[in-house]
Order: sequence, then C-alpha cells, then structure tokens
Amino acid sequence: MKPLDVFPLPAFEDNYIWCLRRDGIVAVVDPGDAAPVLDHLSRSGDHLCAILITHHHRDHTGGIAELTARRPVPVHAPDAEAIAGTTHAVSGGDRLTLPELGIDFDVLDLAGHTRGHVGYYRPATLFCGDTLFGCGCGRLFEGTAAQLQAALKRIGALPRLTFAYCAHEYTASGIRFAEAVEPGNTEIEVRGREVARLRAAGLPTVPFTIADELATNPFLRCQEAEVIASVARRLGRAPANELEVFSALRAWRDNF
Ligand code: ZN
Ligand code: FE
Repeated sequence: MKPLDVFPLPAFEDNYIWCLRRDGIVAVVDPGDAAPVLDHLSRSGDHLCAILITHHHRDHTGGIAELTARRPVPVHAPDAEAIAGTTHAVSGGDRLTLPELGIDFDVLDLAGHTRGHVGYYRPATLFCGDTLFGCGCGRLFEGTAAQLQAALKRIGALPRLTFAYCAHEYTASGIRFAEAVEPGNTEIEVRGREVARLRAAGLPTVPFTIADELATNPFLRCQEAEVIASVARRLGRAPANELEVFSALRAWRDNF
C-alpha cells in the first residue's frame, strides 16, 4: 500500500481544505468551498471517498451540498451541530473508519470555538479545525473559555510529534501576539523567522507540531511566569487562576 499523502487546497482568503490521499482516493476535511476540491478531482483524476467536518461554520461546510450532489460520499460531522448533509454524526470518543484509505481516526471533543466542535486524531496527525492555530486558538463563539481551554489541554497532551492541521493560515499574526505576551521567549523569535521565510516563499506554515505549540503558543502556556505577568499587567492585578489567565489572553487577542 502506498503511503498516505496529506496536502492542502487553499480556499477563500486563508482557509485550508485538507486532503488525505492514497492510490487515487481522497477524503477532504472542512470543504468550505466545493470549487477547489472539484478542481483537484478533475485535474488529478482522484475519487472522493469521504468528507470530514470539524464544526458548522460556513467556511468549513459550504461545499458539502455541491460535492455530495456529484458523488454521494459519507459526511462525518459533529452530532451536536445539525449540519445539513451529515450522514454520520460523530462525537468525542467515537472512532471513525475510512475503509477506502485504510485508516481510522479517534474523534476528540474540542468544544469551545463552537458548541460541538470536534477534532480527528490518528497517530502523528490531528485535524483540529478552528480550535488550535499556529501560536493561537479559535475565537469563543458559542462555548465557554473553560471548554476551549480544556480542548486545548487535550490537544497539548497528545504526543509531542503529532502534526496539527488547522483550517486557517493565521500563524504569522499568532506569532506577533505571542511576542507581545512573552517578549522574553526566544523560541517565538526563532519560530517567527521560520514562519516569515515560509510565507515569503508562498508556503503554508501548517502543519506544525504539538511541541512547537507547547513552546510558543501563549494559550497553551497559561502557567508560565511571563504569561501570567503580562496578563497581570493587563488586568491591573494578579489573575486568580489558570482559567482567568486564559480568558484574559483570549480577550486581549480579540482586540490585538
Ligand atoms: Zn470557525
Ligand atoms: Fe474557520
């Protein structure tokens, strides 16, 4: 069996539709637009076997109807979000099999950005939608800060060499924020140079590893002294606990 290939199809301003491909068969994650997927299928001759959805936002689901009208493939999507076109509703703890590709995923509950957001994990690979970004995390639209922080901790506890495939190219602005929060963290500076090099060459900064995030993403570093000190300066007092550090960071990021 040939190795599994994972590659992005860019969509809209800064979305990535991730494709998993083996032997001319592809599954797509979060096809917000059908056009780039149909374009790939017609150029390559690949066949679509499945659609995986992390959450209900339009930039992740907008292509489902057109893709399934052409080929009625299974659509795996979070049970809690009633997404039109879903054929297989999933929730945290489920296991999902894509027989055409010979792979399985564990479904992770990543609620926070939206109420039912899920991630798809298999060893070394995580599709995390809009929960974790490079040096950042999703906005709080429906869930609570406690839920989002728990989701990020779940991700942070995965093996360090897991590659995280998020749905947006936001890393450069995440780095700017991380530098403001932790000016003394030289790992952020090193990563910033690499991210700038990739972007200048027109290349994605995604995927990145959990190890990269643990070293540089302030939202995963709420127990670090410099992060706590920066938050304390913003609040004008010491934060009461880790959740308050996280909530204050998220609010700061919203206005950054
Ligand atoms: Zn979203
Ligand atoms: Fe999005």
